Amino acid sequence: MDAALAAKGFVRWLAPEMARELGLDGNIAPLSADDLVSLKAEGWLTRDEILKVYAYSHAAAIMERSLGPKVQQLRLKAEIPEEFEQMCVRTLPVALRACGPSLTLVTVFRKPPTPLAQAISQVLRGYLSRPNPTRCRRLAGVRSIVFEHPSDRAALAALKAVPGVGLLTNKAVDFFNKSDAMALLGGAILATPQSLPVIYKILEEACEILDVSPIPALYVKFGPLESYTLGAKEPYIVLASIAVSLFTREELLFVLGHELGHIKAGHVPYHTLAKTVKDGAAVASNITLGLSQLAFDATLSPLLGFWSRRSEFTADRAGFLVCQDQEAALRALMKLSGYPPTFYKEMHTRSIVAQADRFRNQLAHHAAERFFTVSNLWSASHPYTVSRAYELRERQSETITDSSD
Ligand SMILES: [Zn+2]
Repeated sequence: MDAALAAKGFVRWLAPEMARELGLDGNIAPLSADDLVSLKAEGWLTRDEILKVYAYSHAAAIMERSLGPKVQQLRLKAEIPEEFEQMCVRTLPVALRACGPSLTLVTVFRKPPTPLAQAISQVLRGYLSRPNPTRCRRLAGVRSIVFEHPSDRAALAALKAVPGVGLLTNKAVDFFNKSDAMALLGGAILATPQSLPVIYKILEEACEILDVSPIPALYVKFGPLESYTLGAKEPYIVLASIAVSLFTREELLFVLGHELGHIKAGHVPYHTLAKTVKDGAAVASNITLGLSQLAFDATLSPLLGFWSRRSEFTADRAGFLVCQDQEAALRALMKLSGYPPTFYKEMHTRSIVAQADRFRNQLAHHAAERFFTVSNLWSASHPYTVSRAYELRERQSETITDSSD
């Protein structure tokens, strides 16, 4: 199912008596407002595509009032924002008049005249790039227990129970504060209201939604498409500069919300320890306080890796709570996993959901795949993207609680 086919199905439902004139034969199934909403929820249609279908339907309803109730249904079911509706109300009647007296409904649906097509593109562009988009709901007083993944909590408890791990963690944090944090302050761009006002504003908004205070330092630097948080008492977030260019505002809210989730759940000191271990023996041996490298690798590394992968599920949920947009969360994951920027326009989150289902099916039925999957992930800090997409979707129906009380 692609957007063009979905739009044709919707027109068939909207104006069934025009099906023949429009060339919508029996192969095009009618799709109601509810159907479009379901297609969006399943990842077949993006929010922008729904907005476009709505804008054309809105124009059609101006020309033919009897279409009004069904267009209204789409507005309510798809939760078309009031701001977008108002932009259509202001712009589309003028555009329709500019199309001339010969304009018919068939033309609108089949081959929209240039003034109408341009007006709708303008409305869409204007809405998507508006300077003060509707803010997400604040979760005042929210505690990490609301978004923690149960397996993260259990794994972190097991990690903390290892004798000496607290001391090692403090050493690792101290080491990073002296080396990495200083290197960032020296060589990366610290986001401030002056240096990167748009990005800082998004960070500020993310902190406000997830009730994180004080606002942690955010450094933007060259490097692979990733983000991470290190430190302890003064955690700092690092974001690849390419992410700023490739991600939408909502996707950045997800990515920064993910990092704030790590901070809020108390993950950051242990991630700092994990990074120290991963960075190699030379660094690790400076902080192992006499523990032999072998004991370090055999005891701590697997526990850290196991917990670290689970902690990502917690942080993804926090990211979703901040952006409050499942599609944006999944799109951000797809981009982080290497979806080619040239084809972002073709990206549909349905494909990653389908891939996650396929992965789980394969895993459930083949012992060899299970073995290799476990060994491949043994030392990884992050779970597979499909597992993250699956967990995000599984927790979608959990209510967003304002407070854990
Ligand atoms: Zn993370």
